[in-house]
Amino acid sequence: MGAGTSFVKRMNLLYANDKKGLYPQSWYTATCDLLPVYDPLCDSQRADICVIGAGYTGLSSALHLAEAGYEVVILEAQRIGFGASGRNGGQIGTGQRLEQESLIKLAGAQTADFLWELAEESKATVKSLIQKYKIECYLKSGIADLGLNQSQMKDMHHYADFLAERYGYDHITKLDKEAAYALCPSPTYHGGYLDKDAGHLHPLRYAIGLAKAALNASVKIFENTEVTSFDKGKKVKVHTSHATITCDYAVLACNGYLGNLEPSVASRVMPINNFIVATEPLGAETAKVLTQDVAIADSKFVINYFRLSHDGRLLFGGGENYSYRFPNDIASAVRKPMIEIFPHLRDISIDYAWGGTLGITLRRMPFFCQLTPNIFSASGYSGHGVAMATLAGKLVAKAIDGETTGFDAFKRVPSFPFPGGAPARYPLLVLAMTWYTLRDRLGF
Ligand SMILES: Cc1cc2nc3c(=O)[nH]c(=O)nc-3n(C[C@H](O)[C@H](O)[C@H](O)COP(=O)(O)OP(=O)(O)OC[C@H]3O[C@@H](n4cnc5c(N)ncnc54)[C@H](O)[C@@H]3O)c2cc1C
Repeated sequence: MGAGTSFVKRMNLLYANDKKGLYPQSWYTATCDLLPVYDPLCDSQRADICVIGAGYTGLSSALHLAEAGYEVVILEAQRIGFGASGRNGGQIGTGQRLEQESLIKLAGAQTADFLWELAEESKATVKSLIQKYKIECYLKSGIADLGLNQSQMKDMHHYADFLAERYGYDHITKLDKEAAYALCPSPTYHGGYLDKDAGHLHPLRYAIGLAKAALNASVKIFENTEVTSFDKGKKVKVHTSHATITCDYAVLACNGYLGNLEPSVASRVMPINNFIVATEPLGAETAKVLTQDVAIADSKFVINYFRLSHDGRLLFGGGENYSYRFPNDIASAVRKPMIEIFPHLRDISIDYAWGGTLGITLRRMPFFCQLTPNIFSASGYSGHGVAMATLAGKLVAKAIDGETTGFDAFKRVPSFPFPGGAPARYPLLVLAMTWYTLRDRLGF
């Protein structure tokens, strides 16, 4: 066994940075009515479908399956929305994580165009679920993508034109340097665009809202129930330390927290950590940060993203970390990029700081697969999972119900294992990320 293998075996991201059964101490946790703790699975039972993981992928697939009449059980190692779904930047982006021009090269024009339509459906699905189930999660419209120099601004304007011409996408307003400054008064940015059909929300409230809808549709959720293995076959057997679910179909919805549960997925979906802080309420400083209630994402390889909270704080995501463990002082790590952009916030207090683990793929497209005809997996949304994981759950549900078009389109996108597979991917990521961070710093 190589050093890499033993490292991966030692490190279980379900518990590496968090206490068992507890949500992180985030601003999201502090501003969400949490559900009571659901009992762990103690007795073996059967179900039509067993979903592993209660983030957006798992909750959306369970909800859509239950609505279609299936008997569904969710097994969640920690709490509902414990993973990236309860901790993220809340941005509902347009399109796939990979830009359409690159996607056409990767997957061919026909598949790429269909994936654009599916991406549009992903935003619409989030909005309609929020409306249908009356989920109070502060859904707001607008994300501005901002570039760090003139050339990045030009690339963004070119992309806006491309989307308008090819897809008739007309929700984008281009921003020059002055317009970008009027929106976000920081000397860092040189223009970009504002997309009013994109948006942002409170991610944990959204996850809890999906869970409530699923529970009302008779989905059974067992928390503090880690799946330890599963047996493939005509009936799938999903094992936990105390009991087994025997089911017709299983759905792997573990994303960055998958660990070694399924090595063929782990070789293509790499866990990385990302961090967010919530400042004290900004008060008079607000207008020096953002003049509209939209979210910002910048063009750094290690993206900075931020927005205002409904109680007037700056929620700022960024900073890097190349260890499976979160840094001891997340607040200081994230303060650094924050004050590079907003030097006047140097002395602002940070009231909350937290991290989360997400799954990325080599080409930044999600990895959808069927391990066997009755075991589905979707993960690796690469920082674009609020809408895409919600859609993935819906597409998994449709595929189980016999309508495979959407799921198959994602399956057709070429996917690549990280060099060296699961054991060696981590040291190689460190090298790659260090290189890209250096590029961010030197500006090329
Ligand atoms: C800090 C941060 C910022 C982000 N910002 C954005 C953003 O602004 N916009 C955007 O679109 N995306 C963003 N993302 C990514 C987005 O949050 C994810 O893509 C999305 O939440 C993935 O949902 P999921 O359900 O697939 O995974 P998760 O929400 O991670 O859920 C997986 C669940 O599976 C459970 N699990 C794992 N293994 C087992 C097991 N063996 N047994 C039982 N349960 C198990 C975990 O406990 C977890 O609850 C961000 C992510 C992070 C961490």
